[in-house]
Amino acid sequence: LEKVSKTYGDKVRVAALDDVSLALPYGTFTAVMGPSGSGKSTLLNTASGLERADSGRILIGGQEFDTSDETAATRFRRGRVGFVFQAFNLLPTLTVWQNVLLPARIAGITVDKRRARQVLDRVGLSDRLNHRPAELSGGQQQRVAIARAIVTRPALLFADEPTGALDSARAAEVLVLLGEAVREYGQTVVMVTHDPVAAAYADRVLFLADGRIVDEMRAPEATGVAARMAAFRPGKVAA
Ligand code: ATP
Ligand code: MG
Repeated sequence: LEKVSKTYGDKVRVAALDDVSLALPYGTFTAVMGPSGSGKSTLLNTASGLERADSGRILIGGQEFDTSDETAATRFRRGRVGFVFQAFNLLPTLTVWQNVLLPARIAGITVDKRRARQVLDRVGLSDRLNHRPAELSGGQQQRVAIARAIVTRPALLFADEPTGALDSARAAEVLVLLGEAVREYGQTVVMVTHDPVAAAYADRVLFLADGRIVDEMRAPEATGVAARMAAFRPGKVAA
């Protein structure tokens, strides 16, 4: 991202992203932290082209990603970008199995059924394949969303609070899964989290406040992120 800005609203203008420049190297695991409303979801949505930036440039593999051309952006994302939404965004009429395979079907990618079963097993949903989202707990829905995003092994994986609805044991399993995506398959993962324990799984932790990156930590220093968060007060941190 090069000097990316994004403002919402016509009358009351809210700068959700303010001149953000950021490199996300291939095969790295980045966590994004910061107070509610600091622009974390906006950063993910803009970087993935789901939302258009007002200004600035987004480059992927050195090539400018033209988010103003929606068809091109959608075509680009298919098969390359996985997204775990903060609100899960599952399709209510489809079963767990159908939800997980849907993006691949749309992208025309054949998913090995064994792989799909394995992923669903890893997130603890093997016995829920024919359930619909309304028949699942919040944490189970979140795990369907994670399985759906990782099943095709997208080069870029954006996850917005992927462990927000999970207990610590389930959260740890998901974080290990994301870590494997990076270290075994060279995927690039960007994860928003409020949880310092989750952030410690990343190679790097970015801190956002008022739409700006105000601080950054790198592993192994990032294991100290809990202490860092305790001291973190938006506005008090030097940019
Ligand atoms: P949270 O931790 O609560 O999820 P966040 O850091 O993800 O917060 P964003 O959702 O990126 O925050 O929002 C950043 C700012 O932009 C907030 O002030 C929010 O009110 C505003 N905003 C986000 N989406 C919209 C929208 N569609 N229309 C208007 N304002 C928006
Ligand atoms: Mg958010």
